[in-house]
Amino acid sequence: MKSVVKKELCVSCGCCIKVCPKDAIEVKDGIYAHINQDLCIGCGKCVTECPASIIEGEYSKRDNKVRFKKWYDYLWIFSIAYFALGFFNIIFAWLGMICFILPLLFAIFKGNKAFCNRYCDRGQLLGLIGGRLGLSRKRSPPKWMYSKYFRYGFLIFFFAMFFVMLWNTYLVFAGTKSLSQAVTVLWTFNVPWSLAYHGNIIAPWVSQYAFGFYSVMLTSTILGLLTMLLFKPRSWCVYCPMGTMTQAICKVKSMRKNKFQ
Ligand code: SF4
Ligand code: SF4
Repeated sequence: MKSVVKKELCVSCGCCIKVCPKDAIEVKDGIYAHINQDLCIGCGKCVTECPASIIEGEYSKRDNKVRFKKWYDYLWIFSIAYFALGFFNIIFAWLGMICFILPLLFAIFKGNKAFCNRYCDRGQLLGLIGGRLGLSRKRSPPKWMYSKYFRYGFLIFFFAMFFVMLWNTYLVFAGTKSLSQAVTVLWTFNVPWSLAYHGNIIAPWVSQYAFGFYSVMLTSTILGLLTMLLFKPRSWCVYCPMGTMTQAICKVKSMRKNKFQ
């Protein structure tokens, strides 16, 4: 018996691709995963891995084939380096823009979710800590967590908070607010972070943006770790705002493509 994806519920995170020993899975147009039944051997690794638990199939655990690792499977190192560098010098927080811009570029210009599906360092880190190190309960997340309402609601909330961060940066740029040498965790708790500030030669707004962006990255990582502990390792992927936004872009692109064909 082979595995089948419930397409309408797929969040196109690509976690299933990462474990398939037969390269039988692709995410079609960045919208949903599709399993090539000719290649699938029914090992069931994707069924276990899918954070939304939407792949169905019976399988034999006797097959222990593993997928051959690629260079981009080690990008989780970037996540650790990012937080370590930002701990000592906040300007390194700007590097996080890579994880912000690249998924958008893939979605807008290529119409796919290659970043989520292959290169996402944070997803890999969660997979590593929750999977290999066993720090996850590996339970299926509740259905509401991968429902459209929650995913799009969280996306709107996340970007509202992002706008507040941009506004604070603007106020510092305009000279109406002084630089806050603190990191805001979970949009609520201000943690003094002045040890990471060495920037008298750098414009204060540049540092303000760095503190704000580091706060965003830290907050989303904490949420990712919490959902990893409670549910499957990469459960964060089912409501990650970047994942939701890039899937929406891919859907629009696909609709336009089909309309003009
Ligand atoms: S059951 Fe195994 S071979 Fe088939 S798609 Fe899933 S991971 Fe790949
Ligand atoms: S939700 Fe993610 S892991 Fe599950 S089928 Fe879709 S792409 Fe694969």
